[in-house]
Amino acid sequence: NLAVSEGEILGFLYSKGIKPDGVQTLDKDIVKMVCKEYDVEVIDAAPFRVEDMAKKKEIFDEEDLDKLEDRPPVLTIMGHVDHGKTTLLDHIRKTKVAASEAGGITQGIGAYKVQVPIDGNLRPCVFLDTPGHEAFGAMRARGARVTDIAIIVVAADDGIRPQTNEAIAHAKAAGVPIVIAINKIDKDGANPERVMQELSSIGLMPEDWGGDIPMVQISALKGENVDDLLETVMLVAELQELKANPHRNAKGTVIEAGLDKSTGPVATFIVQNGTLKKGDIIVCGEAFGKARALFDDGGKRVDEAGPSLPIQVIGLNNVPVAGDEFEVVSTLDIAREKAESRAESLRIERISAKAEDGKVTLSSFASAVSSRTHTGLDLHQLVIIMKVDLQGSIEAIRQALQVLPQDNVTMKFLLQAAGDVTKSDVDLAVASKAIIFGFNVKAPGSVKSYADNKGVEIRLYKVIYELIDDVRTAMEGLLETVE
Ligand code: GDP
Repeated sequence: NLAVSEGEILGFLYSKGIKPDGVQTLDKDIVKMVCKEYDVEVIDAAPFRVEDMAKKKEIFDEEDLDKLEDRPPVLTIMGHVDHGKTTLLDHIRKTKVAASEAGGITQGIGAYKVQVPIDGNLRPCVFLDTPGHEAFGAMRARGARVTDIAIIVVAADDGIRPQTNEAIAHAKAAGVPIVIAINKIDKDGANPERVMQELSSIGLMPEDWGGDIPMVQISALKGENVDDLLETVMLVAELQELKANPHRNAKGTVIEAGLDKSTGPVATFIVQNGTLKKGDIIVCGEAFGKARALFDDGGKRVDEAGPSLPIQVIGLNNVPVAGDEFEVVSTLDIAREKAESRAESLRIERISAKAEDGKVTLSSFASAVSSRTHTGLDLHQLVIIMKVDLQGSIEAIRQALQVLPQDNVTMKFLLQAAGDVTKSDVDLAVASKAIIFGFNVKAPGSVKSYADNKGVEIRLYKVIYELIDDVRTAMEGLLETVE
């Protein structure tokens, strides 16, 4: 019980620029600040227990618990556009990546390791290289939690903007501690105090004012106080007691993936537990394979990568999606089996997700209609994007399809062209709820995973008859139920 009147506390809050509206519950940080002001003890944070952490992350097994070692923190920079995320990342990369490694950097792999001097020792941390809350949100939507600490950049001449709020919301929802970088303090019109006030009014109380959100005033452009920022981040990391067991098979998350013309699918992982070794057999989302080569963030071939480290891997049979989890298994057969069963469960998930958000596949098209679960879709029209090997095939397929009965169901050919299926075909399909049919063409792995992500169906055929037959079956399913 506080022996202080409500009015007094309100007065105190006002003096800090916080304006409670009377009914609002106070954020924990604000309560703490009030308690500090009136010398009341706060009983809060439970002591750290490895078991809790294991439960929280679900990345540890029983066997890990007595083999845990410290690991570097993984950091993400978020914030409103133009507030200086890229400038800050660039500055850190330029000044903090060890010189020997920096020379080797040709192309980023999506994350890089940085050495921060603390009390004369260099301590590693890892920065995810794609700033912005979209990347963070996309990963989170897939259940991935890679980031240990979010650095949220707020420009001192601009204050809280919509994407600042989104970034804060993402970090809070993910339970990731926040460090605020108040940037551009070198600029005319910079007003860091105002930014701090704005932040406290939404529940982020600066440490300097008795709260527990560290805020560091920096100029990313001039490099001013960036060292302070990094030190602060490392202190927050220390409190988190980040651990992993390096003595086991690796597990982790894909942060970036693509298709390289010469090497095939390339993926960057953050190893979250264990150590990934060259030659390991990996299953990764719907993809699997043997890690033929590993490259570190400096583009150098390495033999292994331990906890928290970013590592680029070549050898998967397909391009995974950012946010996919990977794990090392003992044989290729197990890997294939796991990848396939995951593909199957994802397929089921997607079908039900599609039924909800109105995306169309040939089978959902037919079954949705035959069970008359109209969801506001224009089910009377089958929208088709057709990709074929030769210009000459287009007319043949089109004619074969158009002789199918179309009294109540129509077919709309949105696009017919020669060539492999591309990402822009998928974009077009999303916008118009189309299905992509390919005849004697390919859909590269990256396009497939892109389509999967967007909920677009790509159906590839080598025999014209089968293509026609599938379309007819779907349309007949439809025809049966339409009066
Ligand atoms: P992002 O969209 O958050 O990645 O922002 P950028 O890093 O691209 O920065 C947007 C603009 O702000 C660029 O013109 C930067 O040069 C400028 N900028 C970034 N940091 C600072 C800073 O500390 N001081 C000043 N004066 N300008 C900055």
